[in-house]
Amino acid sequence: MIMPLGESTELEVQSGIVPSTEAFFSDSTPLLKSAELGGPAYERRPQQEEMARKVAAAFAEKKNLCVEAPTGVGKSFAYLVPAIYCALELRKPLVVSTETISLQEQLVEKDLPLLQKIMDVQFSVALAKGRGNYICRRRLALIAGEHSEYLPADSMRSDVEKIALWAEKALEGSRSEIDFPFDPQCWDYICSETGNCSKPKCAYFKRCFYWRARKKWDTADIIVSNHALFFTDLKIKSSENLEMSLLPVYGALVLDESHTLEDEAAQHLGLHVSSSGVRLCLKRLFDPQRGKGLLMRSGEEELKLRGQVAELMDATEIFFEKVRDFAAGYQDNVIRIKQPDFITDILSEKIGHLEHRLNEYLKELDEDEDDNLSQELSAMLLRCEYYRLAISDFVAMRLDDHVYWIEKGGRSEMNIQLYAAPLNVGEILRKILFNGELPVVLTSATLSVAGKLDYYRNRIGFDNGTEDVLDTPFDYENQVKIYIPKSMPLPDEENYLGSACDEIENYIKMTHGKAFVLFTSYDTMKRSSERLRGFFEDLGITLLVQGEGKNRSDMLNEFKHDIDSVIFGVTSFWMGVDVPGESLSNVIITKLPFAVPTHPLVQARSEKIEREGGRAFMDYSLPEAVLRFRQGVGRLIRKKTDKGIIVILDRRIISKRYGKTFINSLPKCPVEIV
Ligand code: SF4
Repeated sequence: MIMPLGESTELEVQSGIVPSTEAFFSDSTPLLKSAELGGPAYERRPQQEEMARKVAAAFAEKKNLCVEAPTGVGKSFAYLVPAIYCALELRKPLVVSTETISLQEQLVEKDLPLLQKIMDVQFSVALAKGRGNYICRRRLALIAGEHSEYLPADSMRSDVEKIALWAEKALEGSRSEIDFPFDPQCWDYICSETGNCSKPKCAYFKRCFYWRARKKWDTADIIVSNHALFFTDLKIKSSENLEMSLLPVYGALVLDESHTLEDEAAQHLGLHVSSSGVRLCLKRLFDPQRGKGLLMRSGEEELKLRGQVAELMDATEIFFEKVRDFAAGYQDNVIRIKQPDFITDILSEKIGHLEHRLNEYLKELDEDEDDNLSQELSAMLLRCEYYRLAISDFVAMRLDDHVYWIEKGGRSEMNIQLYAAPLNVGEILRKILFNGELPVVLTSATLSVAGKLDYYRNRIGFDNGTEDVLDTPFDYENQVKIYIPKSMPLPDEENYLGSACDEIENYIKMTHGKAFVLFTSYDTMKRSSERLRGFFEDLGITLLVQGEGKNRSDMLNEFKHDIDSVIFGVTSFWMGVDVPGESLSNVIITKLPFAVPTHPLVQARSEKIEREGGRAFMDYSLPEAVLRFRQGVGRLIRKKTDKGIIVILDRRIISKRYGKTFINSLPKCPVEIV
């Protein structure tokens, strides 16, 4: 039974988290009832018990823990049970953050409801989503009612009316609840936003979807969040802007799927501006082509403001055209910026002028007359401020120890994105996350390189805590066989593609399809699929190629149901994909997954390592590739009854000295070099 804290301080009372967790995972564990309550059949796993004990100890001793828990260990129960006891003991919420929506759904819809039924304590759960996922009732009423001119197109009105009807009966008011199609552009005009919410002063506050959800988070014992929301909140909390925090103050933290931590942190602690985002912001103020927007009231001041927005739109086009011209000198779609002022910043000062004028206008607006307009304009002011600062910082490269780059994308490369990401993520996380203020548990199925966590720990600044690499519960010796064709040309040799296609044919025949063929580039995947389409047709096997119209989840559904089908996939099929059973009996790895060395982030991280006396290849490129390789290999065996083959079509794994690091990271199973 969990030990109550009573009125004493936490330190005076011995924690009950470890004994309670041990009791839960004893011979008479309540998980024995799992199957009869609709959960998975319970099967005792020493690795699960070991992990649960270590997580419980970390929470009880307020220490950090990093644990690799291979597929099949049952890691979610191993951290959820001690997490629940910890939250109840601390009387503070505990946050569990994940990378993927599928894991959040599994936790909130399956694992936690099952634990609510079988545990000897009561606890509450809340799912935390970003603010923009919720409908704002005030904005919806405004747009569906007297201010439909705020919408950029009349054609959106019927969608907004449908959503307004739906919102009357909606439970959570979140976008994922809407079960009919609508123009996605509508959402920007009716969702909850930071800058235009007057909180308790809002007439809709009592029925507000977002604030109702926030209230649930405040009182929940377990909050299931996602890494994007978690890092956005962490950034706000670490700037000591506490009243702007998104998540409540929590007592402990679990970051599952933490293999993406460095990149997630770099993305959310950095800077990002897109040309389409700036355009949309200005169009919300005034769209000259359609005669729509927030500034459509008649009057002298409105006329001047509309003129100023129109001028700013022209300046925006000129600015991004200049960026596009600069980028046109490069073949890649991703271009690193190495010098400040690579173009003249004609934009941020002009945005500042608009901000000033909007501010003056807002002061003049009679609040009672049109409170809604003031709120909408306040939100736009906040956005303008963000764009002004971000564009200015980007062009002047004002953020220290950051890497800067441009990405071209969209139709005719019209969308330009500006990025800056911190290079010292480890240092930042050491200060703001692993600083000992609260216990942090990191876990994922793939964190170690050749059995060690040193590389991962170093990259994310985890030097203040304990670690564990759990054994796999699977019998790889009998479940898997690995084939490495030794006569394959090297990937950069001319005849590589032809030989790879021949080998793909051989091994696809061996399992009669049922395979993932994993590529590292779209181009090689496309050329291989063109060569092999006839082969698959002759065998009567469906070939599903990523990027040929179907999205990832539709491809996966078809793959699971059409047992013999084969998927050709790139990056997103290497990780986070779970296909237990016969459908996936063969994983073919066409090339060792080294990151593109020319990507600015990879390049800048490598340079930093060299500058600091390290070796970029051995200290960064190789371990990163090994982790991705392990992710790919890990797609095959998802449960104890799975069987299959892994084929590696990159001879470097046996011919290069570094190949050993890949081999040593493979599960222990028969390897045949053929
Ligand atoms: S309280 Fe804020 S988010 Fe909720 S309806 Fe009002 S303005 Fe929208």
